[in-house]
Amino acid sequence: MLDKITHNVIIIGSGPAGLTAALYAARADLKPLVIAGLEPGGQLMQTTEVENFPGFVNGIMGPELMDNMIKQVERFGTKLVRDNAVAVDFSKKPFAVKTSSEEFLANSVIIATGATANWLGLPNEQRLRGKGVSACATCDGFFFKDKDIVVAGGGDSAMEEANFLTKFGKSVTIVHRREDFKASKIMLARARANSKIKFVTNVAITDIIGEEKVEGVKIKHNQSGQEEVLSAQGFFVAIGHTPTTKIFKEAGIETDEKGYVKVFNHTHTNTEGVFVAGDVNDPRYRQAISAAGMGCMAALDVEKYLAEQEGH
Ligand code: NDP
Repeated sequence: MLDKITHNVIIIGSGPAGLTAALYAARADLKPLVIAGLEPGGQLMQTTEVENFPGFVNGIMGPELMDNMIKQVERFGTKLVRDNAVAVDFSKKPFAVKTSSEEFLANSVIIATGATANWLGLPNEQRLRGKGVSACATCDGFFFKDKDIVVAGGGDSAMEEANFLTKFGKSVTIVHRREDFKASKIMLARARANSKIKFVTNVAITDIIGEEKVEGVKIKHNQSGQEEVLSAQGFFVAIGHTPTTKIFKEAGIETDEKGYVKVFNHTHTNTEGVFVAGDVNDPRYRQAISAAGMGCMAALDVEKYLAEQEGH
């Protein structure tokens, strides 16, 4: 089915980046359409308390924050489509965005599809998420005061998260599958110099122990085959993220080697009229507030772009 209107702007994604873009676009009277996914709200829908989003003195639950953002954009006339974008066509104007059942047209698009944390795929990993298992130290570290924490990974994220977690935890053990580290020398040196951080290398993590909450992490030494359980109440996975960019790459949007959308001029992608905001462009900061900030920037860039198009 084709929704016949050519929208001013379609925003793909409904996390803090997409919804902030929608808020600004709606208030600029652009009547944005948000392709919000089957479960709108993005990564914060899977978190518990958010204490670092400014303005909430006592923190706010992730799902409540996103629910508020949705209500706020709807108040200014934004329409949400609760379905996934399955294909886009940026080869001609107007651009086309297809969901599983409809096709929408627009003069501009903001890509705000975010990224997802990579998980190890352990038997109990998902069951214990929010009960000691996390992929975000900045979000959840505070809840592990005086606890023993294990961090999985050997890159800069693992080093950074481990260092950050020593502010709270009694001990932090970095568990890595090889002897050598992918992390930059400086980040590794900083972690090695931190007396609260221990390293266990050349091991595979085989499971997480605990019924109601995390109690330990099961590992197997690669060389000896010996198994061991590290006692821990917190388990942080820091093995990288994957940006959601498959359909955009297929439509000619340029990405870096890890799949993050490249920006050329502020929030512009390599395709004129297609903009980007949030974690789908950002392997570095990955915060709700930085994503929201970029959503605002993208909407302002869209507004300027559309005004220039009209002026021609
Ligand atoms: P990386 O891809 O750099 O590192 C991922 C790490 O996880 C690697 O050590 C890898 O092991 C390990 N890993 C991946 N998959 C598995 C698996 N299935 N089982 C066990 N271990 C696994 O990701 P990061 O998130 O660390 O960093 C992403 C980018 O962000 C990098 O460019 C990094 O430099 C940057 N960054 C910069 C920071 C800063 O400068 N402050 C902070 C954080 C990130 P192996 O080494 O064996 O492949």
